[in-house]
Amino acid sequence: MDSRYLALYPFVSEASEYVGGLGFSPEKLLSSRALDSARLRGKERVIQSLTGEIEKPSPSGSEEGKILTELLSYPFARILVSCIDDQFLTRKYALAEAKAAYRLLKTQQPEFLQELGLDFQINAETYENMESHDILFDLHFTDYIKLATTLKDLNWKLVNRKMKAGHVRISKEEFARLLQEAIRSRIQNALPLSVPEEISEACTPYLAEINETLEEKKSDFGVGEFQKVESELFPPCIVQAIANVRAGVNLAHSMRFAMTSFLLNIGMTVDEVVAMFNVSPDFDEEKTRYQIQHIAGSSGTTYKPPSCNTMRTYGNCYNPDEICKNTKHPLGYYSRRMWLKNKMEKEKEKKA
Ligand code: SF4
Repeated sequence: MDSRYLALYPFVSEASEYVGGLGFSPEKLLSSRALDSARLRGKERVIQSLTGEIEKPSPSGSEEGKILTELLSYPFARILVSCIDDQFLTRKYALAEAKAAYRLLKTQQPEFLQELGLDFQINAETYENMESHDILFDLHFTDYIKLATTLKDLNWKLVNRKMKAGHVRISKEEFARLLQEAIRSRIQNALPLSVPEEISEACTPYLAEINETLEEKKSDFGVGEFQKVESELFPPCIVQAIANVRAGVNLAHSMRFAMTSFLLNIGMTVDEVVAMFNVSPDFDEEKTRYQIQHIAGSSGTTYKPPSCNTMRTYGNCYNPDEICKNTKHPLGYYSRRMWLKNKMEKEKEKKA
């Protein structure tokens, strides 16, 4: 494969050999100013894997600098995923890389798919269908099972396939889909990489945005609930709102909503949030509980707190600190501080 194609399929063995031959150590990849665009593209790969799909450059683009950027962004993206070392992220990242490859593979010639298959020890023969003139692929049934076993559609079950002399015949698109599975599994199984501490430190500036996006996605999917509420990690806006409630100050409706939804999203129960408001003499438990239950999702919609931009618009962003500078969402602030705290604790444990 020429380097243009290696940049599009950077998980093949030839691509890692090619990158190895260029002599870019992880240290150089992180420190060289000339590789700034590769690092930014690496971060973008990871964020795109969480927010949509990894966009690949056009295969016809042949500018050497761009090819190198694309090629080197892949190992950098893997380093970033490994620094965070989160199963949800690893799975999403591996799947997004594999899906991006699948979209390209569908447009490639059958010989290209055959060659790529060999990199995964899949030896597929091709045949021309005499009626439709389509090219079909023949796979040994053991290779077929190995790749199709994780696919849920009944159509992929071996019993629903015609077998001849131990081989299963499939279309080009189906073969590309099986290759997607092989790619996903290769990428996922190789992560996390073992990243030395100094490399992990140097990656910190690239991790904040990924961590924030990750936590937003996790809460969208209802996974990775915050394990326990750590009030000392709350963002300044929420700390102020709580202080006001405790002092008997009436919160504006928008701040009351922001505080309540924040507390519910980080894992506090309705009872616990109701108790927080139970400080004023005219406290109406029934009305407060009803409002909090509604925000918690009793109507079928679970509400998230507003973004920092919206908080600013309503004058609810109070006394932002250093971490706020790179924060787009109060929940992102909390998860970032949680991540920093866990990281420091791990470092302390290592030193002890
Ligand atoms: S920047 Fe965001 S998290 Fe920080 S205080 Fe303002 S609204 Fe809260």
